[in-house]
Amino acid sequence: MKPLSTLARYPYLHDAKTYVKNQGIAVTELIKDPLYDRARSIAIERLEHAFENKDIGVRQLSKESDCIMELFSYPLSRMITCCINDSYFTRRYALGEAVRFYKNLTKENTSFLVDIVKEFNLNIQFDEENQHLSIYFTDYLTYAPTRYKHWKLVNRELQDGYISLSSKDLSRVTQEALRHRINNELSDKPCHELIQKTFSEEIQRLQNKIDIQRKNNETIPVGKLDVEKLPPCIKRILADVQAGENVPHMGRFALVSFLNSLKLSTQDIINLFNTAPDFDEEKSRYQIEHITGGVSSTSYKPPGCDKLKTYGLCPSEEIDRICKKTHHPLSYYGYKWKIENKRKKKKSNKQPNKKNEA
Ligand code: SF4
Repeated sequence: MKPLSTLARYPYLHDAKTYVKNQGIAVTELIKDPLYDRARSIAIERLEHAFENKDIGVRQLSKESDCIMELFSYPLSRMITCCINDSYFTRRYALGEAVRFYKNLTKENTSFLVDIVKEFNLNIQFDEENQHLSIYFTDYLTYAPTRYKHWKLVNRELQDGYISLSSKDLSRVTQEALRHRINNELSDKPCHELIQKTFSEEIQRLQNKIDIQRKNNETIPVGKLDVEKLPPCIKRILADVQAGENVPHMGRFALVSFLNSLKLSTQDIINLFNTAPDFDEEKSRYQIEHITGGVSSTSYKPPGCDKLKTYGLCPSEEIDRICKKTHHPLSYYGYKWKIENKRKKKKSNKQPNKKNEA
């Protein structure tokens, strides 16, 4: 069994779970007993930090009691997340845990890292004598951020299906494996009634924060874009991207090429996207510039209604009378502007002419 301070820093590991199980503490005790007050407040702190900073944060682990409270705060945070019952929040929390995991791993020696990686069933090889690490290419492709140049397969040494990588890079790959794991584990887990009752205030507070963030996202005026005038298809894709939903490639392509046609800069588009819980500025910039021509020198035109319908991206239940008059999301947007300009003109014509009155 690893030392208690290690279990506290890595509460998702097998040894940590065994330790918690062996303590034989019932959920009711953990939730009600004043002995675990500190664990309960750390659990909330983990969630708040994850939501605000995309990192659950660090706390003192100098005493045995610090480690025990830190360790018990983890299952509590998970249970509270299930009661918050919001996929955006769950992903944000999973990211917060995974980011801290990565930061801790980068401070460990390679043997420790190799030991931990085994728990994630990643197929790796470690040549201890030469301190050389490699990972099987399928695991690499599943978890490595290959959209970056440094991570692309062409820039990696591949031998017998294994890809060489540094311990820092292996930590990054493992970060992603933990993020996936937590997100999957919590996605469909029901809320424990007692957790809901005990933490009702905190759950409400966090749900309010999520609502505020969502509202802010809806009302942020960006660049030359008037969100109110967007056609239903683009509005929906944008909302999904901002919520961090899994948007298919064609959806992202339609959105970025549409915004690019409105002359929004790459930075304007990034500002629109950066509300997603797992937002990654570098990745977004790369993907956006591929579509807008910043990387490939080819700037793509946004797809029309027919194509969006073929890809299931036209929300038929939201189609309005302007949709019926137009065949392209850009025409929809332009039409809405025309209506507003006409309305403004009409209004100004109705204003009394002061010169004539005099
Ligand atoms: S009809 Fe065209 S503009 Fe309207 S929602 Fe569908 S795809 Fe978008």
